[in-house]
Amino acid sequence: MRKAVANQTALGKEAAQYIDRGALVPDDVIVRLVAERLKEKDCEPGFILDGFPRTIPQAESLDAILKQMKLSLNGVLSMQVPRAVIIERLAGRRSCKNCGALAHMVFSPPRQNGVCDHCGGELYQRHDDQEETVANRLNVYEKQTAPLVDYYRQRNLLREIDAVGPVDEIGTRVIRALGDVIA
Ligand SMILES: [Zn+2]
Repeated sequence: MRKAVANQTALGKEAAQYIDRGALVPDDVIVRLVAERLKEKDCEPGFILDGFPRTIPQAESLDAILKQMKLSLNGVLSMQVPRAVIIERLAGRRSCKNCGALAHMVFSPPRQNGVCDHCGGELYQRHDDQEETVANRLNVYEKQTAPLVDYYRQRNLLREIDAVGPVDEIGTRVIRALGDVIA
C-alpha cells in the first residue's frame, strides 16, 4: 500500500484519500491493491502475505483473487503467543525518534536509558505500543482476525507455531513449517 501511494498509482491515490484523513482504508481498496501486487513478476515463483488477510471478508476476497489467477494457498502460519507475552513484548518496545531503530526495555535494553544505541537519538514509546492501545489492538484482533484460525483450519491449511522463545528458535520453526507447506 505504501508503495502504491508513493508511486501515485490510481489505487494508491484512492488509498491516500483515506490515509490522509486518518481513516482506515476500506477492504475493497486493500483487496484490489493486493490483487494488483500479486500480478507483478516477482510473485511468479510464489509469495508470502504478512498481515493480510486480517478479516473473514478479506480472506474470502483473497480466495476469489487466487481462483481468478488459477492459484491456491499452500498453507497458513499462525504464530501462537499468549496475550500476556504480547503485552510484555509491545509495552516494552521503544523506538528512536531519529533513526527508527527499535529497543526493548527487557529483551534488548539500550546502553543508556532513553538513548538510541545506533545514533544517540531519543527513544520514545509509540502510541501504538502503549499498554492501553496494545490491549485495544488485541481486542480488535480477537474480534476480527482470530476467526481466520478456524477458517483456515477447516480448509486444512493451518499450521500453528509456538512463537514463544528466542527469536532465532522461532525463526527456525517458521522456516521448517514453510518447508513443510511448499513440499
Ligand atoms: Zn537512533
